Amino acid sequence: MTLRVRFAPSPTGFLHVGGARTALFNWLLARKEEGVLVLRIEDTDQERSSEEHTQAILHGMEWLGVTWDEGPFFQSDGLDRHREAALSLLESGQAYRDFSTPEQAARDREEEIETGKRTRRARERADAMSADDMQARMEAGETFAVRFRVPDGETVWNDKVHGESRFRNAEIDDLVILRSNGTPTYNLAVVSDDAEMGINLVLRGDDHLSNTPKQILLHEALGNPVPSFAHVPLILGPDGKRLSKRHGATAVGDYEKEGILPGAMFNFLALLGWSPGDDREVFGREELVEVFSLERVLKKSSVFDFKKLEWLNGQHLAAMPLKELVEQVKWRLTGKGLLPEPPASGGREAIDIYFLVELLKVRARTVEDLLDQAEPYFSTDIDYEPKAVRKQWAKDAEAVADRLERLHAELGDVDWDQERLEEVSRGLAEELEIGAGKLFQPLRLALTGSSASPGIFDVLVLLGRERSLDRIQRAVNILRSGELPTE
Ligand code: GLU
Repeated sequence: MTLRVRFAPSPTGFLHVGGARTALFNWLLARKEEGVLVLRIEDTDQERSSEEHTQAILHGMEWLGVTWDEGPFFQSDGLDRHREAALSLLESGQAYRDFSTPEQAARDREEEIETGKRTRRARERADAMSADDMQARMEAGETFAVRFRVPDGETVWNDKVHGESRFRNAEIDDLVILRSNGTPTYNLAVVSDDAEMGINLVLRGDDHLSNTPKQILLHEALGNPVPSFAHVPLILGPDGKRLSKRHGATAVGDYEKEGILPGAMFNFLALLGWSPGDDREVFGREELVEVFSLERVLKKSSVFDFKKLEWLNGQHLAAMPLKELVEQVKWRLTGKGLLPEPPASGGREAIDIYFLVELLKVRARTVEDLLDQAEPYFSTDIDYEPKAVRKQWAKDAEAVADRLERLHAELGDVDWDQERLEEVSRGLAEELEIGAGKLFQPLRLALTGSSASPGIFDVLVLLGRERSLDRIQRAVNILRSGELPTE
């Protein structure tokens, strides 16, 4: 039998990490078992659902690479079928009409709270009503809800994560399946859709555990094959409370904006509630398809560790094909107006972005990080780090200016390759009888605005002769002006 799973988000919010994790587990299983993943948008809550959210969910899944095989189907397209299912249960006596007034319903609830028991008063009233009476009420236009008649006994299923799970039916409410305005409720719609779509495994969050016995009973009453169920544990924030906005970004789209790579997010989500059984942590998509199994889904909640996501991102960043990474960086630099570079003036060569990204990626944790480090190479406007200015320039501004000026002169006509640049610069430091750092640190600041960068000769090569000399000259001018950007 082909495995058929589904992801069934409600478009009442953006794709959040919990939902994405559910989607991803379903995807991994479907890939592994050569099954089918159906995407169903549960949009029956008209007021809270929106097209914007639907689009964000689809985009988030595509970004993660969690592709679906069938759909997207929209739950609201099945309303007639849902209604028919409710009416068929009414016909067979497995559901009943509830004419209770709001006052009666409120009293019933109070009684249940007081006694701590399911009283099934609505059912008693319905059963006590004669057929004629019922007919008369309907003809008089009185509205009624349709409630499912929960059978006696116990509902048991073998949860693929939690093992044998059981609920006493006496504790389950005779749930409304059709509201008095004729709209189907959540549990009925899900059951009808899962049956229609041939879903044979429902894998979703623990928050749905209490719906499962109701859905199993509905499937049985409707004569449907009952799917298997697997409930994955909740995701908690670092403080042990259920993950929420208080803890930071919970929408997958926010991480995309922050420069988290889709492969890293995928890897991270897979480890939320699943473990490979050894200490490996860095996985690619295909590897996860290989090693993923429901048996290793953890029973206990997992903690969303932002630091770990960053770390994983750094790992993926470093392992990513350079071309892909360069595309990401280029795309963002273009967004900031730094690319394409202004028409080359004075014979300036374009920055070799491949070389730059190669150099920067080892010290970056996110693409945004990498971008921050890449920006000074493209920007014509250098922001000098005040702390570095105080340390490298301010103490001895005149002497530093002299040194940089000498270097400017020396570099004027050398061959612009690493070896030559190193030879000339070190030679100058020796001649001036200063440690190389006394020349290279002020130079680094002049070239990049910062005290941390890749090797100084790599930086010179990257920037090219014209840009490097411009930047050195500019530093000399600032140093001579006495107006140092130290704040
Ligand atoms: N639409 C439900 C939700 O967003 C999920 C339904 C299900 O997976 O059964 O939580």
